[in-house]
Amino acid sequence: MSAAGVVVVGAGQAGFQVAASLREAGFSDPVTLVGDEPGLPYQRPPLSKAYLAGRTDAEGLDLRPAAFFAEHRIALRAGVWAAAIDRAARTLRLGDGDGLAYDHLVLATGARNRPLPVPGADLRGVRQLRGLTDADALRAALGDARRIVVVGAGFIGLEFAAVAAARGLDVTVIEAAGRPMARAVSAETGAFFRGAHEGIGVRFAFDAAILAIEGEAGRVAAVRLSDGRSVPADLVVVGIGVLPNQEIAAEAGLAVADGIRVDAFLTTIDPAISAIGDCARYPSPFGLGHDGTIRIESVQNAIDQGRCLAARLGGRPAAYAALPWFWSDQGRHKLQIAGLAAPSDAGVLRGSGDAFSVFRFRGDRLTAVESVNRGGDHMIARRLLGAGRALTAAEAADPRFDLKALAMG
Ligand code: FAD
Ligand code: NAP
Repeated sequence: MSAAGVVVVGAGQAGFQVAASLREAGFSDPVTLVGDEPGLPYQRPPLSKAYLAGRTDAEGLDLRPAAFFAEHRIALRAGVWAAAIDRAARTLRLGDGDGLAYDHLVLATGARNRPLPVPGADLRGVRQLRGLTDADALRAALGDARRIVVVGAGFIGLEFAAVAAARGLDVTVIEAAGRPMARAVSAETGAFFRGAHEGIGVRFAFDAAILAIEGEAGRVAAVRLSDGRSVPADLVVVGIGVLPNQEIAAEAGLAVADGIRVDAFLTTIDPAISAIGDCARYPSPFGLGHDGTIRIESVQNAIDQGRCLAARLGGRPAAYAALPWFWSDQGRHKLQIAGLAAPSDAGVLRGSGDAFSVFRFRGDRLTAVESVNRGGDHMIARRLLGAGRALTAAEAADPRFDLKALAMG
């Protein structure tokens, strides 16, 4: 490779990882990390957990201290927007007018929050959570808030609701589907988390559509539902999913369809450009869709794709085939998911009370395991699913069946 080296757009979890892994692999050409957020690359998960609850400070979020970037010759251009790609000239045009030549360009642009498409969504007191700036604003808003409406019973909504309820605030969660995390987990796990949240005082409105957010003097006052109800609120937190940041790729003529399209090696249709993390749609043996591709929004995916791509750019190509896994901390409960299940996959229960796992099956094939306060099951499930070991529903349900032996075998 010539001296232009690797340029990465997006200094988040995936962008940081590919840069760090390139250096770990002994890659010696320049590595430049361009990110529009100010400061050092940081981790997002604590933003809706420990950071929101005030249990960690902003420094505790940094993926590495400033010295790391200098020591590893990673040129960090923070607070800089990447505006366009000139594929013919292999140059990235920056928002400040500069051009950056590349031999290989990595798009790690992540995702942004989906806006709530109703009147009043722009009132003061209506907030979302994606970055550190949002989390700081929310932390401050929590100090004054009394009645909170959370829109969306997904990961952000439920993690936020648990933190707010623990502070004794009045929290109502409004969800379009019939149960929490309907797309991500089984009915059994959803019911458990519904009960756990209700147990700490959170109220839910399921199958609910929002007509408008009502304000007084430019500030939020209530959320009006299509069934006529009006829920008073002085803070509204919207967590209704994300949209991949794919515009820079689309404008450069790369293929996009709910994510930047890449092959199994994470390369776009242009061999000099790859995409990783939340923004990338890739073919996967775990793919659920009709075309076998998926786009995953998780730390595991961002890290593993960063590593996989760095290995390829360092001369060790391998198709990306890591097992997806996730976690969520909600109040005192830890949810861990290994694999990907479709909502119609059957669920088999192992354990009981507030420590159990639900093994999901499509026909006789194990597709995912959801573990609630059962970290041991989760680790075993990752091994089982990663190695493609066969497990029957009867074995999963039998507490005497030795799952660990099967996983290690
Ligand atoms: P990001 O981390 O979003 O980074 C992309 C970066 O690129 C951003 O800084 C963006 O501003 C920048 N960018 C985009 N376009 C440009 C451009 N043109 N020029 C310059 N910069 C650009 N996942 C889990 O697995 N477990 C969790 O518990 C968990 N908790 C979460 C809690 C919160 C509050 C949030 C928001 C997410 C959470 N996630 C969690 C998801 C996880 O953080 C993401 O999947 C992960 O950050 C994806 O990494 P990424 O690098 O693809 O994207
Ligand atoms: P999410 O997990 O996709 O959940 C969004 C929820 O909002 C879904 O239940 C969705 O229902 C619902 N919804 C959609 N439109 C709605 C509407 N108009 N009114 C009411 N409800 C609506 O997304 P998120 O919670 O917003 O999280 C954003 C991103 O951060 C995601 O990438 C997520 O993975 C990540 N994150 C992850 C974690 C974690 O892994 N622990 C924690 C926080 C954030 P439908 O499914 O029916 O559309």
